[in-house]
Amino acid sequence: MTQPSAEPAQQTLRVLLAKPRGFCAGVVRAISIVEQAIERYGSPVYVRHEIVHNRHVVENLRSKGAVFVDELTDIPDGALTVFSAHGVARSVEDEARERALPVIDATCPLVTKVHVQGRRYAKGGRTLLLIGHRGHAEVDGTMGQIDGPIHLVQSVDDVAKLDMPDDTPLAYVTQTTLSVDDTRDIIAALKARFTNLDGPDVSEICYATQNRQTAVRSLARESDVLIVVGSVTSSNSNRLREIGTEMGVPSYLVDDGNDIDPAWIEGAKTVGLTAGASAPDELVDSVIAALSRLRLVEVAQLPGEEEHLNFSMPPELRYREPRPPRINPAHRSAPVHQTVASSPANNQTEKSA
Ligand code: SF4
Repeated sequence: MTQPSAEPAQQTLRVLLAKPRGFCAGVVRAISIVEQAIERYGSPVYVRHEIVHNRHVVENLRSKGAVFVDELTDIPDGALTVFSAHGVARSVEDEARERALPVIDATCPLVTKVHVQGRRYAKGGRTLLLIGHRGHAEVDGTMGQIDGPIHLVQSVDDVAKLDMPDDTPLAYVTQTTLSVDDTRDIIAALKARFTNLDGPDVSEICYATQNRQTAVRSLARESDVLIVVGSVTSSNSNRLREIGTEMGVPSYLVDDGNDIDPAWIEGAKTVGLTAGASAPDELVDSVIAALSRLRLVEVAQLPGEEEHLNFSMPPELRYREPRPPRINPAHRSAPVHQTVASSPANNQTEKSA
């Protein structure tokens, strides 16, 4: 007679990974800038705001000698200063210049590209509309980069509230962490109301945001539960979780594997796992490890977009011989060239920002 087994047979949990997920080219560049600045010029290196919105990344850089501050007034005279990937307002650049702070600018070239677009429209006499979220560091930076009138548009409802004639010469630009899907309805509402509106092709704003959102939609369709790795301060990570929720899948944002609640996966056959553009892949591994402690796990990855984009380093770090950081990249007007490894799958080939 066979003895009944003490434990019920454990059902294998399928963990399905999104592709692409995690670090984008702008985040890789920003982190490398801080690491190389410390290596080349010594610590401490002062970084205005979180270099990218991820707690683990910030803590790791802090352990290497980075000091994160809210404002330039927190930085001692003469100390090497790094601007975060989100960009800064001109007033911040001016303040750094007035104080003769040596600056290395880690603003993502795709954010700089939005600044350049906005300045071009403003110079052409257009009132600027920035589609984005109030309070985000990138929005503060972009609003402060434009000479001339600029209005923040956060929703379709805001379009009707814009207090200006319908034939006002206008142009829009968008926050890079918003995808084509996020901006579509707002742009449609702007076009429906205003008769003299210009704007860029938003599909080219940020390849990483679009690719991660497209991937999470495919993932959510296959998943009983969705887990997004990213910090609560990360706009694009929050958006990935929201997309899962909008698609009717219970979706959770976690910093790492320690945040996993066993109740989330009770009865689940497939867990979808992805990461925001500022979340390192080792945190995805920590989530897989946490799930493995709860259930037998089988890991697979959905097919998705290949990404091969790289951004060149700023001149202060690009050359073998150390060059002293400049006193601020004076109101950048020259294009920033990005280097791109060619790939037919790459939907954002060579660009100037
Ligand atoms: Fe740059 Fe896009 Fe990454 Fe933001 S999400 S840092 S804009 S590549």
